[in-house]
Amino acid sequence: MPERRKVLIVGSGPAGLTAAIYSARAQLEPLVIEGEPSSNSDQPGGQLMLTTEVENYPGFVEGIMGPELMAIMRAQAVRFGAELRTAKVSRLDLSASPFGAWVGDPEADEPTVLADALIIATGARSLMLGCPNEDRLLGYGVSTCATCDGFFFREQHIAVAGGGDSALEEALFLTRFASKVTVIHRRDALRASKIMQDRAFANPKIEFLWNSVITDVLGDTKVAGLTVEDTVTGASSELGVTGLFVAIGHEPNSALLKGQVELEDNGYVKTFDRSSRTNVDGVFACGDVQDHFYRQAVTSAGSGCMAAIDAEHWLEEHGQ
Ligand code: NAP
Repeated sequence: MPERRKVLIVGSGPAGLTAAIYSARAQLEPLVIEGEPSSNSDQPGGQLMLTTEVENYPGFVEGIMGPELMAIMRAQAVRFGAELRTAKVSRLDLSASPFGAWVGDPEADEPTVLADALIIATGARSLMLGCPNEDRLLGYGVSTCATCDGFFFREQHIAVAGGGDSALEEALFLTRFASKVTVIHRRDALRASKIMQDRAFANPKIEFLWNSVITDVLGDTKVAGLTVEDTVTGASSELGVTGLFVAIGHEPNSALLKGQVELEDNGYVKTFDRSSRTNVDGVFACGDVQDHFYRQAVTSAGSGCMAAIDAEHWLEEHGQ
């Protein structure tokens, strides 16, 4: 028999855990299916688990380590009665409330959980280069967020991988701190918008390494350099940088929702009327799975709060 819940939250980053805190305090006894670690870059707790110091989350004067912040949010949710389960949802059935969520075998006849209201907080992930040692040095010089980590690279030479708007935005932001920023792009022309290109070309701190792919990240406990291959000549060289910002795009974790909830063209969940409501009555979305613009821990937490309140109102309206 599936277990029955009033509120099921899928995902345990700042959005999911804030939704859990709010819905637990509203006596809705939420279950959070928090995900399962599958690699260094895929962990319950979301992208903050891959960050070292977080200095822009309000309330922490001296900053806090990403994993510690997530542990505090987790403990806060548990304190009010949220149940957290370390598992991955393998399938959802959102055809009608109560919604079915499968853990384990997606072909099983019955779902594991039936939930009256569902909050999707599965987040997004940065696309990574996939070269050796990139994953190991994530948080130790390899970063996917200049807004979060740029400050730690004052007066250093750092590299940005990518040729789109994100890469140039990161590079321009990083020039506030770095002595030099090298943008490494795999082609000889940028994908970024003309205005961003103009700004980057005009910035004396930014240099470009064209037709180049990063083949390895060097360093024992922190980044000490990169191995770069020229795609035209095949020549390999080392670049002495102390940081690498990977900015080759993001992907929402929305595969489970395909065909069930309306998604934007870029795969992000569509929410309506500045709320967390999706096109499926009783299904709410919060955090990075529905936000490709702000992508901050604090905006994610804020939208988790919205989702919990929206779900609570929805349950009330439906007599629960
Ligand atoms: P994007 O436009 O898809 O660009 C990704 C870049 O990374 C491309 O230059 C691509 O190279 C490169 N790349 C992809 N996979 C790679 C790999 N495995 N190895 C090396 N390089 C790789 O992604 P984005 O820059 O994140 O932008 C996403 C969307 O948000 C875009 O529509 C963008 O305009 C928008 N955006 C706008 C702003 C702004 O206006 N300020 C800021 C950020 C994002 P190729 O060019 O060779 O494909």
